[in-house]
Amino acid sequence: MFRPFLIKNAITDLDAQWLKEQGITALLLDVDNTLTSHDSQEVSPAIIGWLSEMQKAGVKLTVVSNGKYKRVKPFAEKLGLSFISLAAKPLPFGFFRAVKALGFSKKQCAVVGDQLFTDLLGGKLAGIRVILLHPIEPEIGKPFIQFKRRLEKPIVRRWTGTEDW
Ligand SMILES: [Mg+2]
Repeated sequence: MFRPFLIKNAITDLDAQWLKEQGITALLLDVDNTLTSHDSQEVSPAIIGWLSEMQKAGVKLTVVSNGKYKRVKPFAEKLGLSFISLAAKPLPFGFFRAVKALGFSKKQCAVVGDQLFTDLLGGKLAGIRVILLHPIEPEIGKPFIQFKRRLEKPIVRRWTGTEDW
């Protein structure tokens, strides 16, 4: 039930053609540790390239983040993406707003994020498929996230059958 639709190491591992074959034409993207490091405004060239490949292939992208407006807005605008900040994931309402704003059905969307108890749980509560990614880097000095990571690890390891998480 709680299992994600797909588990990948990095967002750049997602293939537009494959997603479309699964009926997914829009992605609701987390920011921190999914598109960039925590609190960073920088995006790697690989991810910039991936974003443009997705858009060329006709996959709609939007940002759904728990981050504050002043953190999320400049980040999303730099990438030319619409966004929802203070989404309060795992509550589903930010996802509902994003799906509605895109004009798609939930079935056509997938949530993409790195945290089980925000992105995955929120997507599940919203009734949207979820793609779970390995976090870009370990969180340092963020005790609440580090605590959640300790809970996540054994679960994801069971799903993936690898200790490498
Ligand atoms: Mg995140």
